[in-house]
Amino acid sequence: MDLLGATGGGSVRIAGRGLPREELLGWASAVAAEIRGADAVAVHATASLETVAAVVGGLLAGVPVVPLPPDSGPAERAHILNDSGAGLLLAARDATARAEGEPPLIPVDALPHDGNTNTGPDAGATALILYTSGTTGAPKGVLISRGAIAAGLDALADAWAWTPDDVLVHGLPLFHVHGLVLGVLGALRVGSPLVHTGRPKPDSYAAAAQNDGGSLFFGVPTVWSRTAAEPSAARALRGARLLVSGSAPLPVPVFERLARLTGHRPVERYGMTETLITISARADGDRRPGYVGTPLTGVETRLAAEDGGPAPADGETPGELHVRAPLLFKGYLNRPDATAESFAADGWFRTGDIATIGPDGWHRIVGRASTDLIKSGGYRIGAGEIENALLAHPGVREAAVVGTPHDDLGEQVTAYVVADGVAEGQLIDFVAERLSAHKRPRVVHLVGSLPRNAMGKVVKTRLGDITP
Ligand code: ATP
Ligand code: MG
Repeated sequence: MDLLGATGGGSVRIAGRGLPREELLGWASAVAAEIRGADAVAVHATASLETVAAVVGGLLAGVPVVPLPPDSGPAERAHILNDSGAGLLLAARDATARAEGEPPLIPVDALPHDGNTNTGPDAGATALILYTSGTTGAPKGVLISRGAIAAGLDALADAWAWTPDDVLVHGLPLFHVHGLVLGVLGALRVGSPLVHTGRPKPDSYAAAAQNDGGSLFFGVPTVWSRTAAEPSAARALRGARLLVSGSAPLPVPVFERLARLTGHRPVERYGMTETLITISARADGDRRPGYVGTPLTGVETRLAAEDGGPAPADGETPGELHVRAPLLFKGYLNRPDATAESFAADGWFRTGDIATIGPDGWHRIVGRASTDLIKSGGYRIGAGEIENALLAHPGVREAAVVGTPHDDLGEQVTAYVVADGVAEGQLIDFVAERLSAHKRPRVVHLVGSLPRNAMGKVVKTRLGDITP
């Protein structure tokens, strides 16, 4: 199965170092020769060409690849290495010091580039073991097949009209779906050049737009919120074709500011490690702030009410989002319990996210069932709506809302806010003027920063640890 496509075009440049596609595949093929027959290989996944050569080498050899976050602490690194059972570690010679007990190192940068053999095993074989972002608990190893990647990338190319004429720009980490599967394998499969900026910074995105013909830009909401705060960088993106946001909710005020400055209404998309990308606005269609779009080609969705029965697609009633699609994962590694729990009796995948679906098929993500759905005084309140209301205040830079225990209400709406020159009471009044009374925060904590993980996601389970 030809996962990487056969267009022959394209190139990859990371932080200023670049290689044409053919040379990269030749290098990957040398990696493949070293690892063939291994059960799984870990890749020390810095933002580098070595990482790309190592991952593609695994695909060519048909050996499952486990990307390791390069800045993970020793405990997370040991967890991923042990859990995945990776027998080899691929890295640039000086990229990492192997700790005691880690698998033998293959120095990717020392391998000669040889001929290129773009063959691989069948579609069902595991291509990647990607660990989830760990937003709600310990990261889980997600088994992703070659067929799921191919199906997901083709559906995306269709939705975003992504062609070899595009130049993809991003600076996301290369150990999650967003940066690695979409951001690297997507560019290789479509055959469009990739300019990876090393880190996702507004001024590097602006430079890539101006100097490298960047047309398609990927970012997480924190990247877009920083870009919207730097008008000159944002204006440099006026010549782009498409700005895409994903991995976490794009706040409505950020959507609007970005659209004003760049002239582009961003495309928002929703996905998970388990489902790759499943829902997105389309390049040739409408884009609505606060909505993630419609299911990609081949993807079916439904809403489940709390009792497990169907919830109506009336655009108002929230329910747990279920997905059925060829791009779904195969299961969690070593976690038969978690795998079984995540599928409904009829085989649909339960995302754990709460959504609404409108009669026109547009999806809105209300939040995660575990942290973003607040049950207060008999109401079910989505944290995102209150976060958006807080972010509309000019003094507010970041906001996260959760439910905290309350004797009378069950839970009370509690906000953690990073702001300049605004008092708690003013923020409560500001929200009260915009939303119904039961959605007004009862408690506001003004804090210096919010706890975020490598993908820029707020880790809500750690909010209680911050002392305002
Ligand atoms: P863990 O599963 O370890 O707790 P995680 O769920 O954050 O971590 P990922 O698979 O990287 O790990 O992220 C998927 C989640 O990100 C989704 O379930 C959803 O909650 C959130 N998400 C992704 N895109 C969007 C979006 N556009 N809007 C809202 N939420 C989003
Ligand atoms: Mg998850």
